[in-house]
Amino acid sequence: MCADRAALLPKLREPDESEAVRFGASGMSYSRLALVAGETAAVVGRARRVAVWADATPEACAGLVGALGAGAAVVPLSPKLGQRELEHILADSRPELVLGPPGFAPPSAPAGLPVHEVSLDVTGRALPEEPAGESDALIVYTSGTTGMPKGVVLTREAIRSNLDAVARAWEWTDRDVLVHALPLFHVHGLILGLLGPLRVGGTLRHLVRFDSARVAEELSEVGTMLFGVPTMYRRLADDAERDPGIGRGVARARLLVSGSAALPASEHQRIARLTGQRVVERYGMSETIMNCGVRSSGDRRPGYVGLPFDGVELILVDEGGNRITASDDETVGEILVRGPNLFREYLNRPEDTRAAFIDGWFRTGDMATRSPDGYVRIVGRRATDMISSGGFRIGAGEIENVLLEHAAVSEVAVTGEQDPELGQRIVAWVVPGGAELSERELVEHVAGLLSFHKRPREVRFVRELPRNELGKIQKGKLGAEWASRHV
Ligand code: ATP
Ligand code: MG
Repeated sequence: MCADRAALLPKLREPDESEAVRFGASGMSYSRLALVAGETAAVVGRARRVAVWADATPEACAGLVGALGAGAAVVPLSPKLGQRELEHILADSRPELVLGPPGFAPPSAPAGLPVHEVSLDVTGRALPEEPAGESDALIVYTSGTTGMPKGVVLTREAIRSNLDAVARAWEWTDRDVLVHALPLFHVHGLILGLLGPLRVGGTLRHLVRFDSARVAEELSEVGTMLFGVPTMYRRLADDAERDPGIGRGVARARLLVSGSAALPASEHQRIARLTGQRVVERYGMSETIMNCGVRSSGDRRPGYVGLPFDGVELILVDEGGNRITASDDETVGEILVRGPNLFREYLNRPEDTRAAFIDGWFRTGDMATRSPDGYVRIVGRRATDMISSGGFRIGAGEIENVLLEHAAVSEVAVTGEQDPELGQRIVAWVVPGGAELSERELVEHVAGLLSFHKRPREVRFVRELPRNELGKIQKGKLGAEWASRHV
């Protein structure tokens, strides 16, 4: 391990020839990455804010690392953004420069915004001195699951302290080789999945596109850890059902980690059966980086996101804002967090920033319970997953999990719709998994396993569910229009 722990990416300051990153077939050693990043940092100069076209390439990686090294606040841009979304992010964040790989083509950039193509073919320069810890490092846009993406400002110190806490929890070292195919413009893929391995001096093997056979190959050859979102784990399990070689390859990893959305307990168990691996779940968000996770040496309990990471304080509060002390796995409250991992502000949204805090605690908007030994179980989001029906407050997640246990259900989302009698009525949106399936059968399945008031009043069979690029279900889009187009 390198000496300068105050640096965000210490090994780039004392680089060697070991592999830093590999995207598909093209890789880069630490010394090469340091030189290209140094060259990029010289281009960035004193610019305070720099947007980086964050596709899965070594150039984008060098652009991100170089701009960070120059002391700028980096705005990662998704190459999948449509024109309208890109305009929103550029107008909101006002970068002074855009970096991208050769030939990259932002659909529209404001006139006069300088664009620089990062090339690996340079002699290279040393990185400038490490920027101050309290300076802004990243402006990440939230996934837009519940509304317009908001720019979240994160400091270098928040990233550094949180990555160290995560590294301790997962015993992450410079010998680890992380495998994933996550996008590099959200906290999951960018902070955890790219800056994480670079901070510990390990290696990232990025697959560019998720492919179960490649995952298994990498994990059986060099990979020690896999990071993914639940939709990837579902595909991995589906493919392992067909091809036992995939399960055998994945079995050789040290750690499989899931996050960004809930991994259903039934999926956790299916993966365990097929690969022998018990997936570790962690819970984080753009505003807080990583809040809690199951330790690599801890109890890998399906459906739980584990314990707060070092430095993170986490409490549950009721609707009146009163702290919940019960650790009974039953009492649901909103998660509030505090610690060095928190964001500084929502960019250009002072009202939203103010509204997001109570007495210094950040309101996550996520609802959870706590077990007697402190394990956190996410129930859903306050805004979209809590249903008020017939005087009961019901978490959609519990019903979703039970529906997913039905063999003929492939995907599911439960929502509440206005109802004159009940307040809200429970609606289940179901993607069937092949076999014949009736509404009655599903309602009885739920009623047989949960309290009677939790049964869906209506089941809508659909071909697919609206999801964003991390596979998160966008419940706001589930309405009459979706039903008419996707039945
Ligand atoms: P937006 O804020 O724009 O609506 P978003 O909340 O999806 O989008 P992110 O910050 O990328 O944007 O995602 C954080 C959210 O993802 C958390 O608040 C939580 O709801 C969900 N999440 C993350 N990890 C988990 C997990 N392990 N289990 C359940 N939910 C999770
Ligand atoms: Mg959010």
